[in-house]
Amino acid sequence: MIILLMGPQGSGKGTQGELLSEKLGIPLIGAGQLLRDEIATGSEMGKQIHEIINVNGELVPPDMISKMIRMRLERDDAEMGALIDGYPRDAEQVRLMFEQFTPDMAIVLDLDDDTAVERLSTRRICPNGHVYNVVTNPPKQEGVCDEDGEQLIHREDDQEKQIRVRLGWHKERTEPVIATIAERGVRVERIDADGSIEEVTEQLLVLLKN
Ligand code: AMP
Repeated sequence: MIILLMGPQGSGKGTQGELLSEKLGIPLIGAGQLLRDEIATGSEMGKQIHEIINVNGELVPPDMISKMIRMRLERDDAEMGALIDGYPRDAEQVRLMFEQFTPDMAIVLDLDDDTAVERLSTRRICPNGHVYNVVTNPPKQEGVCDEDGEQLIHREDDQEKQIRVRLGWHKERTEPVIATIAERGVRVERIDADGSIEEVTEQLLVLLKN
């Protein structure tokens, strides 16, 4: 079963994705995390990605991310399916996605811009993708990941100006993608993500039971 987790930056796709991944026993594939992992290898491609994401604050080319998602889905742990966070994000990506696979369902986490900015500017992540928030979901020890002891970082693109740009992409490019996916017959469910982590998880579990 392939489930797309959609919604603006800060709506909790990564956090909820981690929890659902454990419950459903399928991996969470984060498009942004795949890109950050490639940057961390120090490869030529990683350097290009760093320029695009962190220096220019842009989206990477659709064929690049589509290929990375396809290769990730081919790994053994995704045999039973996956949760995909942050893909597809524009019209070309949705076209490429349907050439490669048809998701079983898309879940959209809805959140207003101001709450998203507030959440993202206080977000901290570990290099392996575990997500914290210094206000609402702090780690046990300040600055250190509970899961793997890694040093937490404040992402370069989690600053207000860049966050607003990224939220703008969501409205202009990704919202139309959600409409396309629904038109293609995929079940699309929307959830109000303006609640605590537990409240949103609860809504998701009720949805998945049905
Ligand atoms: P995220 O972790 O989802 O916030 O993604 C971090 C950054 O990676 C985004 O701001 C984009 O620059 C890039 N990125 C993530 N997903 C995609 C995608 N599907 N297509 C193109 N660029 C992406």
